[in-house]
Order: sequence, then structure tokens, then C-alpha cells
Amino acid sequence: MKIETVGIIGAGTMGSGIAQACATCGFKVVMLDVSQSAVEKGLSTISTSLDRLIKKERLSLEQKAAAIEAIKGSTDYADLGSAQLVIEAASENEAMKVKILQQLDKQLGEEVIIATNTSSISVTKLGAATGRAERFIGMHFFNPVPIMTLVEIICGLQTSSETHAAVKAVAEQLGKTSITVKNSPGFVVNRILVPMINEAFFVLAEGVAIPEDIDAGMKLGTNQPIGPLALADMIGLDVCLAVMNVYMSEFNDNKYRPAPLLKELVAAGWLGRKTGRGVYQY
Ligand code: NAD
Repeated sequence: MKIETVGIIGAGTMGSGIAQACATCGFKVVMLDVSQSAVEKGLSTISTSLDRLIKKERLSLEQKAAAIEAIKGSTDYADLGSAQLVIEAASENEAMKVKILQQLDKQLGEEVIIATNTSSISVTKLGAATGRAERFIGMHFFNPVPIMTLVEIICGLQTSSETHAAVKAVAEQLGKTSITVKNSPGFVVNRILVPMINEAFFVLAEGVAIPEDIDAGMKLGTNQPIGPLALADMIGLDVCLAVMNVYMSEFNDNKYRPAPLLKELVAAGWLGRKTGRGVYQY
């Protein structure tokens, strides 16, 4: 089955980014959220983001018009009828995602593939909550979606090879590089990244170096564009802590214990850029 129309659930940071990427790469898009105002906010984010690309001369006015034309905003699941692939990118809440997926399962033709953009919930478990686990898969995009070129494709235990091949082709059409990952907490990228950030908090707490030197060391010594502490402030310290807690409980291995300093900063409400203070002050 040729995928021509992509449905997207959630018009937030990731949903609007995925919608933009799809619409500029030749797909028709139906982007759905719970309220008209959330849909409009998503559409306006896309328009602003496309304007930035025009300014950088990476997109023409005509391409922007075509992309906007290709996206239908909606609050009605019935509008997803034309989609061959639906990507769920609603808030990270398991009970809510299960409810959405079950509604999609009821609504969509049985050949339609459902993907989830979850960062932390088991793809196998979410797939099992639908009646189509073999046509269910993870497509983990990175923020900001139009810029970041990686997609982690996560196969649940029951995902079929046809489903994998179909979403891999979609990722290619989006100009992304995909990696294929077995379902496991944190998949590949966050499984390695977040414990590295956690370790930076141990190093800081032990007084091995000041934050600026830890970040400069990792930037210049390992060729990363941003140091781990500055990155933690961007991601949100609460998010980093929650992820470590998931690894700790899922793997039951003490190597994933969250750094006490990370816990302390979160307890203080110093969550990073979003609160004006984290490791650094903004
Ligand atoms: P967000 O809060 O920006 O957007 C979530 C959107 O989902 C909101 O617009 C909300 O109104 C909508 N929503 C809530 N319930 C809904 C429902 N029942 N039906 C339809 N829409 C509903 O969140 P986000 O950052 O875009 O994250 C979305 C998903 O992507 C999460 O699973 C998250 O873990 C994952 N993710 C996020 C990032 C990131 O950096 N932000 C990166 C990779 C993956």
C-alpha cells in the first residue's frame, strides 16, 4: 500500500514538526488535536517555521504555499479516513495514549499502519493495546523535527517486517536517516545520552570541575555541539530525572541511579531554561 496521506495525532512541538516535515516532502497531512485552538497553534508554528526556511533561502514562497495547502487541521477522527499511516504524537501519558490508539484502531481501515512517537513507553505494550500489533511501530523523531535528521524506528515484539519496511521508506522520503531499534527503555539514543548527562551531575557534585569546564571538556574533547549540563538545562532537569527513574525501575540496575544533585535541583524547581535556572542561570 502506497503511503500518500499521513495522519498526525497532536499538534504540539513534535506533532507540528512531523506535520511540517511530511507536508514539505510530498505527503498530504491531517493533523488532529483536542481543540481548535491547539490545532491553530500548531498550524501557526508550522507557518512561522516555514518562514524561517524562506529567509534562509532553503524554501520558496510557492513551496511554503504548497506545504500549507497539504495540511488539514482537524479535531475529528473521521478526517483520518484518507490516511495510510497515522503517527501518534500526543502528550507522554500512557493511559491517554492507549485511549487514543484504541480509538484509532476502531476508526481506521485494518491495513492502516499506526506509529507512536513516544520517548519512553514500551512500543510492544502500546501495540498490544491495539488490535493490530503487527501494523504498529515506533517512529521516534527528534526535536526540532524539520532540522534533526534522525528517526529511530522501534520494532515491538509483534511488529511485522512489512510495517518496518513501509515506515523506513516514509523516513527516507522525509529525507531522514533511520536506525532500527528493538523495543527497550530509552531505545538507543536516550539510553546512552541521559546516563551521560546523569554522570555529568556526579562529576559536578564531586567538585571534579566547574560546570563551564565540564561542558567545554565534553564539547571540545568529544566533538559534541553542546556540553551535557547545558543540554540538561535545555531538555529540562525534571525530564532527565524522570528518564533515569524509568531506567532504574525497568532495568533494576544500580548503574542507572539518578545523581543526588540532579534530584536536588529538581526539588528546588530549578528545571533548566524553562524556569530560568538550572545548572546555569538564564
Ligand atoms: P506537546 O505538549 O508539545 O504536544 C502534545 C499535544 O498533544 C498537545 O497539543 C495536546 O493538546 C495534544 N493532545 C493531548 N491529548 C490529546 C488527544 N487525546 N488527542 C489529540 N491530541 C492530544 O508535546 P510534544 O513535546 O510534542 O511530545 C509529544 C510526544 O512526542 C510525546 O510522546 C513525547 O514523549 C514525544 N517526544 C518529544 C520530544 C521532544 O523533544 N519534545 C522528542 C521526541 C519525542
